[in-house]
Amino acid sequence: MEIDNGVICPICGGLSKKIKSLDSAYIKSQLSIQFNTPVLKDVEIVDYELLRCNECSFEFAFPQIEGSRSFYDWVTSQPKYYVENRWEYYKVLDLLAKGSKGIKLLDVGCGDGQFFDVINQGGRLIIDLYGLDTTDASIEICRNKGYKVFCMDIQKFKSVHEETLFSTITAFHVLEHIADPKKFLAEMADLLEPAGSIFISTPYSPMDFELDWYDVLNHPPHHMGRWNMNSYIKIAKILGLKPEFFMPEYPGLLRSAILSFKFSIYGSAQLESKMKILKAIGRRPGKFFTHLLKQSKRTRISGKRASNVILVKFTKI
Ligand SMILES: [Zn+2]
Repeated sequence: MEIDNGVICPICGGLSKKIKSLDSAYIKSQLSIQFNTPVLKDVEIVDYELLRCNECSFEFAFPQIEGSRSFYDWVTSQPKYYVENRWEYYKVLDLLAKGSKGIKLLDVGCGDGQFFDVINQGGRLIIDLYGLDTTDASIEICRNKGYKVFCMDIQKFKSVHEETLFSTITAFHVLEHIADPKKFLAEMADLLEPAGSIFISTPYSPMDFELDWYDVLNHPPHHMGRWNMNSYIKIAKILGLKPEFFMPEYPGLLRSAILSFKFSIYGSAQLESKMKILKAIGRRPGKFFTHLLKQSKRTRISGKRASNVILVKFTKI
């Protein structure tokens, strides 16, 4: 029998259960496998536990200590850490195009300005853009591109720009890094014009390839929270926001099963040939069938199996 451990959920205050112990040595060993290089000695990582809320099924790290500066300096310097393009950039632009004119947009965690680049390439919408990021190097890149960006977090921005409100606030793959997501989302809501919208995207956890593989980058210290539909519905209700959900097309049952099978055997390694996976399936058909069966039971959202990414639009009620 699992016993409540007394740690309450940062979203809803519900009691939680421990689902994994993640000590520092284990996290470092998984990171070195992931990036195929040893983790430097001065990278600070504390011991964590992964807990799941009994009420809203949000999975969160305990202690609620976000990844250290030395951890982020190390992980962001790894090749292929940053994703160039995201499905949700285009989805948000589609949704914005259907509505308002005179958009004033704040992108929280704007990175090197990838979303701004996409907006400018499209060129159809007139948007007054603002960006926030806490990494000096990223801010420098944005400034060189001519973007209006501030090297600060949202709390600081709010304190120095009290009168500034936005019609649209975006945060792509930021929420899962934050130890107190409720406070973060509430701060965004405070910066919103009355009829404005917040767009949040995160992984939809567990992602399909996590079935039988430990994804170190979707766990603490990198990701402090693992989001699903229940957790989003709960946080929206608590903050008085109306959520709408969007997902990219589900890749298909067979593809998800092949992917999770591949990860369970080869991890995140890139394989030169598809033949290698097909041969592995041929050798272990029973194992592959288990993956197929489990993927067929994946959470459904609006009747379709969940993809690995979710975009949530929040509006004030
Ligand atoms: Zn909860």
